[in-house]
Amino acid sequence: MYRLDWLFWGGVAAVAVAFVPLIGWFMSVGIVGLMLWKVFGFREVVTEGDCPACTKGLHIDPKKDDVIACPVCQSVIQVQPDRLELIDIRK
Ligand SMILES: [Zn+2]
Repeated sequence: MYRLDWLFWGGVAAVAVAFVPLIGWFMSVGIVGLMLWKVFGFREVVTEGDCPACTKGLHIDPKKDDVIACPVCQSVIQVQPDRLELIDIRK
């Protein structure tokens, strides 16, 4: 899910359960906490993607891989948090 979705639906859910006494109040706090964590604390990382040059599917280890080379077209690709970016090494 996208961050804005979390913000929106998390807010809706938190308000909805806040109408339920006691249990709902605790759930509401939990939802708000989860929402803030999802929106601000947690970044989803790319673990697979397509080579920007030849669209070959690539697997990426987010802990290790930073810059990878495409095994098919030999392009050098930088792994961004949310996408793959082609590096032009001929510059
Ligand atoms: Zn490629």
